[in-house]
Amino acid sequence: MLTILDPLWVLIALTIFCIGIRRRYRLWMLGQRDDKVRGIGQRCADFIIYAIGHRRIVRELYPGLMHVFIFCACAIPLIIILAVQFQFSTPVLFGNLFSLFLDAVGCLGLLGIGLAAYRRYVQKPDRLSDSRAEDAVALIWVCLIIILGFCVEGLRLNITGEPGVWAPAGYAFSWLFSFAPAHSQISLHKLLWRTHLFVVLGLIACIPYTKFLHIITSAINVFLRTYGPPGVLRKIDDFETAETFGAARLEDFTRLQLFHLDACTRCGRCQDSCPAHLTDKPLSPKKLIQDLKAHMEEKLKPPAADNEQAEKLMIGDVIQHDTVWSCTMCLNCHFQCPVFITTVDKTIEMRRDLVLMESNFPVEVQAVFKNMENNSNPWGIGRHMRGEWAKELGVPTMAEAGEVEILLYAGCAGAFDDRYKKVSTAVVKILQQAGVNFGILGTEEGCCGDSARRIGNEYVYDALVQHNISVFQQYGVKKILTICPHCHNALKNEYPQYGISLEVVHHSEFLCDLLRQGRISLNGSAPPMTVCYHDSCFLGRYNDIYQQPRTLLKAISGVSLVEMNKNLDRSFCCGAGGGRMWMEEHLGRRINEARVEQALEKQPDAIATACPYCLTMFEDGLKTKNVFDAVKVFDIAEYIANALHK
Ligand code: SF4
Ligand code: SF4
Repeated sequence: MLTILDPLWVLIALTIFCIGIRRRYRLWMLGQRDDKVRGIGQRCADFIIYAIGHRRIVRELYPGLMHVFIFCACAIPLIIILAVQFQFSTPVLFGNLFSLFLDAVGCLGLLGIGLAAYRRYVQKPDRLSDSRAEDAVALIWVCLIIILGFCVEGLRLNITGEPGVWAPAGYAFSWLFSFAPAHSQISLHKLLWRTHLFVVLGLIACIPYTKFLHIITSAINVFLRTYGPPGVLRKIDDFETAETFGAARLEDFTRLQLFHLDACTRCGRCQDSCPAHLTDKPLSPKKLIQDLKAHMEEKLKPPAADNEQAEKLMIGDVIQHDTVWSCTMCLNCHFQCPVFITTVDKTIEMRRDLVLMESNFPVEVQAVFKNMENNSNPWGIGRHMRGEWAKELGVPTMAEAGEVEILLYAGCAGAFDDRYKKVSTAVVKILQQAGVNFGILGTEEGCCGDSARRIGNEYVYDALVQHNISVFQQYGVKKILTICPHCHNALKNEYPQYGISLEVVHHSEFLCDLLRQGRISLNGSAPPMTVCYHDSCFLGRYNDIYQQPRTLLKAISGVSLVEMNKNLDRSFCCGAGGGRMWMEEHLGRRINEARVEQALEKQPDAIATACPYCLTMFEDGLKTKNVFDAVKVFDIAEYIANALHK
């Protein structure tokens, strides 16, 4: 049935496809060079698991299955083309099974398209509220290919008289044509066969110009994804020589960051999990990516003096300032994205530009930077007061202690915040009961720098890190116990960028180990109560610490643990991450109040956290809700200290 012209049509389709891919490639290459891609074996395995196996996509059953069905019908087009265009040349048994398989794939594809259309145009979830004409065209296009394939198959069955048992869908379609005379069916078969060929070739040609592009880019993005601890920010190495910092223009992003923009499928899973979006802030991670993509596509237009688009500022015109500052860097969008697209890396580069190049940031942050620079804490309390919290506790400083098992790093909250000093005191009490040989740095300890870094002030962060590292090296520190997850993440995952290697454990991990080793025992004197544990983003998603706090709480007799609906790696941020702790929240609803409402749904007697920011945000939220006296918030260390065997 092939004609002499058919190779030409294939060539034309492939040429249009290649031209389109080349256009996109030139856009991606506008970015800065990335690090080399390493770990090919791991990447191949993850490609199979996440790109082909749809592991993240099927976490949501309806859209997951829907996508699997359509994927199957699209990912096997080559087989379908071969099958339909060349009419089987395989052994009969294999050919029959093959025919049955293709029919099943086609039917699943139609089912998937039906589910997708129902969801997008009948259910209309918020995350799909930005439907475009191309979404409908894409569904119709794939539907057309499958139906044409069944029609061709049905006509073939009629013409050849083959039984339809191995091609039930084709057999069903054959009834549509059974009324027509044989010669008409032969002509129609030729016509539909050719139409099918052109529709398939048309789809191939259009891939780079339509949403079908994600078939290629999403899969490649899974392969190229960043490994290592999640959310680690890029270090600025050339402070002395660099002329610009951060990203003011699209070209300041890396090539992989620009590739992300084309890998986005607009599924909206990120938006559905974003605390900023869900509390009516002007930030949706999906929209952020799509707006940057639209901005990137403007680069395809020839430059013209009157081209208003070419004059657009990336920050300000394309991405609003409030969008940049609304992110709590909770990483929920990263964890929910099925194709590993990241947003925090782009937000931080825009913040760096605003802070380091433009001095344009929320006014209240100015004092925080100054306080960190002058006194190494965000409140500006004299640094000579940093060791006061432990004065009465009999804790030696490193200068006094000499060799210790572990350094207790109190952090700014543990050292200065009146409420959180009770938590650092509780940790000390537990360590002393367990006979742990530990010391603190006292006045020599400095702010870890996490907030400065995540607000975008890498300059202040760099100075704070340099100071802390020099103190660690002075005392030969190898192992550090942190109380705050933000300190924990900085010391464990980001300080190694400065060439230092530290063993860093969070108090939830350390106390859990003490309990397992029998170095502490609990006497079970706590009154019966229902406790709701809130996963801190920087402990959970950033550091994969989910079970240890729960193990500790469950070990306390009388404590009944309840889970919020959004827990573990889907936990909803308290609103204080990403430096938001130090900014006013003047847009939308307050994130901490939304989280408190989620906790109160479980009717707990108390709420447990393992983070000073979360604790503050929960206490503030409970006060606003007028339930502060009824529902208390404690750190897990306080629960354990109270339940210690006396
Ligand atoms: S990191 Fe959190 S706040 Fe920021 S865009 Fe993602 S989900 Fe939203
Ligand atoms: S960034 Fe990821 S989760 Fe968000 S819309 Fe795009 S593909 Fe979906």
